[in-house]
Amino acid sequence: MESLQTPEMKFKTMELPYVDVSAGELWINVLHESFKHGLAPKSWTDYLHLTVGGTLSNAGISGQAFKHGPQINNVYQLKLVTGKGEVITCSEEQYADLFHGVLGGLGKFGIITRARIALETAPKKLAISVLKAKFYSALKLPNTSIQKTQIVLIRTWMSSYQS
Ligand SMILES: Cc1cc2nc3c(=O)[nH]c(=O)nc-3n(C[C@H](O)[C@H](O)[C@H](O)COP(=O)(O)OP(=O)(O)OC[C@H]3O[C@@H](n4cnc5c(N)ncnc54)[C@H](O)[C@@H]3O)c2cc1C
Repeated sequence: MESLQTPEMKFKTMELPYVDVSAGELWINVLHESFKHGLAPKSWTDYLHLTVGGTLSNAGISGQAFKHGPQINNVYQLKLVTGKGEVITCSEEQYADLFHGVLGGLGKFGIITRARIALETAPKKLAISVLKAKFYSALKLPNTSIQKTQIVLIRTWMSSYQS
């Protein structure tokens, strides 16, 4: 569903921070842009080359889910196209049934075009991610583009805390 991607990401960085993103955006890009503000989505996926719309239509499980729940518990608002072709903005307050139906709804209740994702201050503890990256390089496992991107991401994250 990367075809749903539009370039614009809009951040609110003050109280209850969030980012508005297109459904076709990849989580790795959302993380990268969020780090620039010292923020990160509350709940990620472990594999980051998945679209926002794709994982919100499933659940979105990662190592953060034990703390904040899956990604579908960390969305403030969705913009979607219904089966009747209507464009609707829904949330806990507005079209709540549709909001809850679409989250984890496998695309059956509408197509998500944008999502407002809850953010938090980027966590400082990166020990596990760093160890994983070191583990891969120590074993000289093939350095796939995914590993490279995730290592770059970790470095960006660390440097934002060192400065
Ligand atoms: C290698 C790999 C690793 C994964 N790791 C994780 C993980 O760590 N955590 C996790 O939670 N899940 C994981 N998944 C599962 C993932 O959440 C689903 O496969 C998800 O559908 C992938 O999103 P996509 O953009 O690739 O979807 P696509 O393959 O493009 O779409 C899959 C289906 O999702 C629905 N869909 C997609 N976009 C939208 C939209 N905008 N609006 C409505 N419905 C839509 C449709 O039903 C569509 O048929 C993984 C999958 C793979 C292949």
